[in-house]
Amino acid sequence: MSSNGNKLELPASIVIRDLAQKIEKSPIDLIKKLMTNGVMATINQTIDFDTAAIVVGEYGFEAVLEATEEENKVETGEVPLWRQMIAGENTSLLKARPPVVTILGHVDHGKTSLLDAIRQTEVAAGEAGGITQHIGAYQVEKKGRLITFLDTPGHAAFTQMRARGAQGADIVVLVVAADDGVMPQTREAIAHAKAARVPMMVALNKIDKANANPDRVKQQLAELELVPDDWGGSTMVVPVSAKQKQGIDDLLEGILLVADSNEIKANPAGKVIGTVIEAELDKSKGVLATLLVQNGTLEAGDIVVAGTAYGKLRAINDHKGKPIKKAGPSTPVAVMGLSGMPSAGDIFQVVSSEKEARNIVAERTEAAKTLSQTRKKVSLEDLFANVQAGEAKGLNLIIKADVQGSLDPIVSELNKLGEGEIGLHILHAETGNIGNNDVMLAAASKAIIIGFNVQADVDGRRLAEKEGVDIRLYEIIYRMTEDIEKALKGMLEPKLVEKVIGRAQVLEVFTASKFGRVAGCKVTDGELRRGARVRLFRGADMIYEGDLSSLRHEKEDVKEIRQGFECGVGFKSFNDIQAGDQLVCYIVENS
Ligand code: GDP
Repeated sequence: MSSNGNKLELPASIVIRDLAQKIEKSPIDLIKKLMTNGVMATINQTIDFDTAAIVVGEYGFEAVLEATEEENKVETGEVPLWRQMIAGENTSLLKARPPVVTILGHVDHGKTSLLDAIRQTEVAAGEAGGITQHIGAYQVEKKGRLITFLDTPGHAAFTQMRARGAQGADIVVLVVAADDGVMPQTREAIAHAKAARVPMMVALNKIDKANANPDRVKQQLAELELVPDDWGGSTMVVPVSAKQKQGIDDLLEGILLVADSNEIKANPAGKVIGTVIEAELDKSKGVLATLLVQNGTLEAGDIVVAGTAYGKLRAINDHKGKPIKKAGPSTPVAVMGLSGMPSAGDIFQVVSSEKEARNIVAERTEAAKTLSQTRKKVSLEDLFANVQAGEAKGLNLIIKADVQGSLDPIVSELNKLGEGEIGLHILHAETGNIGNNDVMLAAASKAIIIGFNVQADVDGRRLAEKEGVDIRLYEIIYRMTEDIEKALKGMLEPKLVEKVIGRAQVLEVFTASKFGRVAGCKVTDGELRRGARVRLFRGADMIYEGDLSSLRHEKEDVKEIRQGFECGVGFKSFNDIQAGDQLVCYIVENS
């Protein structure tokens, strides 16, 4: 997008706040101009090129339609899940549905308190039920409209869901304590929401506190490209006190405004699809799962497949525990009747028969097996090939460095590299070691993690191994930029990489005279191979790394042993094995 003289290039449609930013005018001014032209619009509303052309004309610009909209498209190419879900639906049947909101923010900034305060607006309004059950999500009513809240705050849950391919939330409410300001997890949360392309608004919490400093927080937000609306920006910032229940109504109204400008729709009569929010096993009732319906209408008696669990729904309860017959889009429901435990983030769908359900589950189990064996890393080495094959549009990066002083030059060097044909997108740049959250974000966004003078935590490393996330550690900036530059040009030499070929669990430990202590294992995934490398984990700690020197199956020496089989494993000169330890078997090869 560029302006030349008083010519102004505009896309086919543009959000008012973006247009205001482009012509450097206040959005309020713009809205007033639109009103005098008979167009009633809010700051987050999208207007078409023709309308935008008229209004910018009033400021002396001549609007021309942008030649291509490509560069403005979602950088990561990510299409929100609900859009994929309703892709096959007839657009004329799509109806507005309640927005699904999740609350993110730094620890102790008041996420839980805010969720409680919002939930209580219902109770205060004299709603039946009074005490709401915790089912992982709830709904409140505002101005006759419903809003659905996901009840597990924090970006770990949010991104875990995304990593599984689901996207429950339509809107992120970022909680920032007015007395504490933007903190590391606030920045992390922003990165997660941005990577997921979910619109964000801010609840400026704890304004009741004597040392609350809203202006300082707004300044910090502005520095992170979340310019508050009352400063002429596009981020709605609502002051609240979760403790004193102030500003909650404004927050809910704000959510509805953001929802209105984001076309949150579904077909209530369409294919029934949604996301598993949580599941637990109840001794007497069996599997209790909370489902968020995202398209179609779920009914009691429906046969549902969720992940690799399925079953006929015996009962559907709403978030207050009240039995209901039907649940439309954006409704969270507690259901009983599934045969197995689905995982949070699994997609569910309604099928026509138990036979169909069984077939889908069988297919999925098979596909999951193949996937875990062939899961391809998004590695720097593969980048060029992926871009050439049209599988990736650019390179997503997460940068972790030891100090801010090294982070800034790294980011600016990388931004320079990203000006070429293949784009570079820095999703998150922060100081500190590489942890679970970074790896989750990378897994969900198909990103590579670059560490500069930092290490990966044991947890982070394990997760990266499991999720196939490439972590690259550097100590010299030019080595890093050199690698990335080469990758962007497809010139990176293949390097030796580790490939996980299998995992096993130690069931018992026994002593065999020849080997010392032997681990009796069950292969849970892939295969174990004699001569390959192994790591032994106890909980999150790696306690041994070395060669897998002996492998036996029922007293026979074997070269390899596959998933589902039991075996005896011995390690060279290492005996401290315990039942419950986890074994990861890997080989090192040219990538
Ligand atoms: P979370 O970690 O983000 O879920 O934060 P919590 O909701 O657990 O709140 C952390 C602490 O801040 C608790 O002691 C709350 O009582 C307190 N708190 C939350 N909201 C407010 C508020 O609006 N005002 C004040 N003064 N304290 C609050």
